[in-house]
This record gives sequence, structure tokens and C-alpha cells, in this order.
Amino acid sequence: MVPTVEIFDSPGKGRGLRAIKEFWAGDVIFTEQSISAVVFDGLAERICHSCFRRQEKLQRCGQCKFAHYCDRTCQRAGWAEHKQECAAIKAYGKAPNESIRLVARITWRLDKEGSSKVSDMQLTTLDELEDHLNDMAEDELQEFKVDIHNFLDYWPRTSKQHTIDSISHIFGVINCNGFTVSDQRGLQAVGVGIFPNLCLVNHDCWPNCTVILNHGNQSAVNTLFHSRQRIELRSLGKIAEGEELTVAYVDYLNLSPERQRLLKAQYFFDCTCDHCKNRTKDDIKMGGKEVDGVKPTEEQVKEATDFCYQMLEKMDQARLKGDYHIVVKICREAIEKTEPVLADTHIYLIRLCSALSEVQAYLQSFDDAAEYSRRMVEGYIKIYSPNNAALGMAAMRAGVNLWQAGQIEIAHGMICKAYSILMVTHGPTHPITKDLEEMRVQTEMELRMFKENEYVYYSMREAALQNKPMTMLHEPKSMEEGIKNLFHRRK
Ligand SMILES: [Zn+2]
Ligand SMILES: [Zn+2]
Ligand SMILES: [Zn+2]
Repeated sequence: MVPTVEIFDSPGKGRGLRAIKEFWAGDVIFTEQSISAVVFDGLAERICHSCFRRQEKLQRCGQCKFAHYCDRTCQRAGWAEHKQECAAIKAYGKAPNESIRLVARITWRLDKEGSSKVSDMQLTTLDELEDHLNDMAEDELQEFKVDIHNFLDYWPRTSKQHTIDSISHIFGVINCNGFTVSDQRGLQAVGVGIFPNLCLVNHDCWPNCTVILNHGNQSAVNTLFHSRQRIELRSLGKIAEGEELTVAYVDYLNLSPERQRLLKAQYFFDCTCDHCKNRTKDDIKMGGKEVDGVKPTEEQVKEATDFCYQMLEKMDQARLKGDYHIVVKICREAIEKTEPVLADTHIYLIRLCSALSEVQAYLQSFDDAAEYSRRMVEGYIKIYSPNNAALGMAAMRAGVNLWQAGQIEIAHGMICKAYSILMVTHGPTHPITKDLEEMRVQTEMELRMFKENEYVYYSMREAALQNKPMTMLHEPKSMEEGIKNLFHRRK
């Protein structure tokens, strides 16, 4: 593979990556496999430890009884990584937490390779990456020491021994650069892994790249056609030769001070990007609604904002408990009360619309789900950059809801919008993009039918709905607000 990027000294940021050729929207700048990855503690029995797919039924490793796999093929594929772990878990008596498991897997891998580079494409060694141990707060350091203590108990005497400093360094690296691994549809965070080249890509709140996990394809009968799980760094627009490559570590939906706070706490730097410096769009994210040239007073906006905030907290509690009818009630009340005052780009109002649409879709109230997800997308469009992955995913959700509500014209438009964004952010081979392609074809056909003969269209639709209740959504309490954190942080 011809190199497309190089390391350089980014002013004020330390090492960074820059393009050595021109890129356009949707270009894959590089792909990278993990040095190692592990499934989260809480999902150990629901996610395959080899391919990270979510499956109804998994087979347990007969030896350690901890690792789970889709089938024999996945178990065999994962054995090289699991072999030493398996024996260690048995000897230790239980599986240690995900951070310890990841550090151990990485260390075994590097010991086996006999070098800190596992491929020629790896631009940096783990040793060269920052661990930020000196930036950590006291309580965080305490947790760290507990992990390192447990690691030393878990690490077999028969494996190569390492100094506490070098083990601490790896813990530090995964703490700030452990990449969130998602399930095959990219809807849920299921694990954490380390991708060294990605660690070199600096943050910008308004980035020129995005990163997506592609699970590869292991379904072909002939294993020659299988592709491995990898991340792809994809270009969001035109990137000139020599330009620095950036991704967003935190969600742009947050206000500038909040993004800066998160970045400082999690990644130990002060963001000085243009959007933070100018506090771009903070005004519309907290803004009041202008009606016939009249704006509400600052007090009115503040009062409505505070009210939304309280209702969001209440709503989150009800959602976690699974009290979905209460969620609906809270959201409706909060939206009705504050929408005359707050702008449709107000982020609390958008969050309420998002939660309400998600729960209503789950409860099969499709008209409501359609209405509020459409409003969510309209808000997002004014806030996010045009090729933002979260915007694409939101448009998909809205498209499905509108389709289910029978609003075929808007549904088709929304699905096309989602498709065009995901072609850039996820690429044509990602399962979600393939789903969208199918929906695009289906809704296009339905739209044509609708335009030719509405009556036939509605009776066909009725029949289709009766035959096949559409259930493609997770239960809302199991969903996070999408996966908006690039790197995984221990809670
Ligand atoms: Zn599997
Ligand atoms: Zn095992
Ligand atoms: Zn910033």
C-alpha cells in the first residue's frame, strides 16, 4: 500500500497526521486493524469475542467459560488472541475487568511479535504514544493503581515479565486512546480496542475526517473473499495536500465550553479550534424562537432552558427504568411548554424530540415518532456539518419512522439524505449503508406506486403491515444516544 499520510509536528498539538495527497469526500485515507480489542465486561455473554457481532445465541469457551463465540469458525479465528488469556482466566479464577484484559492482550501480542510494530503500516509504536499519567487527578490514579495491582496478579508467571512502568504506560495509553468498538450495525458500543495510527489523528470540533469501524465480511464460503475487521479514516470533504487530518473526539452538539471541559478532562488538552475560539453556533444551540421579528427575553429563554434541563433529567430516569409512557408524558409536556419560546435548534429541545421519537417508535406510535424525529433532523441540519455521521444516522431513523407512518414522500427524501451522508461516512460496504440502499429502492418503488394510484398503494401497505410488523429498533433503554464518543472512557 502506498502511504497517504505522514507524521508531522502540529503547531500547539504535538504530533499529528497530514495528507500527502489530495482527498475528496468519502475517500478512505487509511484503514487499520487493531493491535487488540476486548468485549466490555457487561456484554461478555452477548457479543462474540472474535468478530464483535451481536448474536442471539453464542457458544461459550469450554475452558475458561468466559469467552463467547458465534460458532467454531469464530472460536478458531480468535484462538491465537485468546489462548494465553484463556489459561490466565482459569488460573486467576475469574475474568478481570476490560482494561486489564486489554492491556494483557496487547502485551501478549507485542511479546509474540517481538517488536512494538505489528505491521509495516503502523506509523508509531505504543511506546511513543502519550499516556498522560502525569496529568491524572489523584482519584483517577488510585483506580489505576488498583488495576495495575490486579493486572500483576492476573499476569502469568510463565509469560514474559515487564516493569511496572511499561505496564502503567499501556494502561495510560488505552485510557485516553482506547477506541470504542461498535456492533456490526454501528448502533451500540460493545468493546474497546487500540489502533495506533488513529491515536495520531488530532481532534478538531469541526473535523475534516471521520472514523468508522467496518466489521469486514466473513460470510463468503471461500475464505479468500473474507475481509478483516478494520477502522477506516474517511474524508468528509476536500482535503488539500499537506493539510492536517482531524476527527472529532466529542460530539459537536455540546456547547463550546462543555466540549472544552470534556476534552480537558478526558484527553488533557485545551481545544483552540476555530469553533471553540469563536463559540460558533453556541447562540443557536441555546437560542430563543423569533416569531414575526419578535424574540423572547433572555429571562424567558433561561427559564425555558432550565425547565427543559430538569425535565431531561426526569426523563432519563424514567427511560432507564423502562417507564416509557412516563417518558412520553414528560417529553410532550416539556416540548409543548417550551417550544413557543425556544428555537428549533435549542439542544435541549432537540434532545427531548429525539427521546420522544425513539420511545414512540418503540411503542409503535409511528405518527408521533415520525413528527419528532423529523424535527430532530431539522435541528441537526442547522447545527452539524453536512457530512456528519450523527446527522446521517438521525436522518435514517427519521426516514424509517416516516415510512412506517405512511408519509412516503418525505420518508423517501429522508432516506436518500441519510444514504448520501452514509456513503461518505460509512462507505458502500458498511451493513448500515446496505440497509439504506435497500430502503431507498423500496421507498422509491412505493413512491412511484403512490403517485400512480393512491388507493392501491394504501391497500398494499395495509396488507404489508399486517403481514410483517416492522421491528428493527432496539428497546430505548438499551440504546445510548448513538455512539458519539470516539474513544472509550471508563465510567
Ligand atoms: Zn463471531
Ligand atoms: Zn477460554
Ligand atoms: Zn474545539
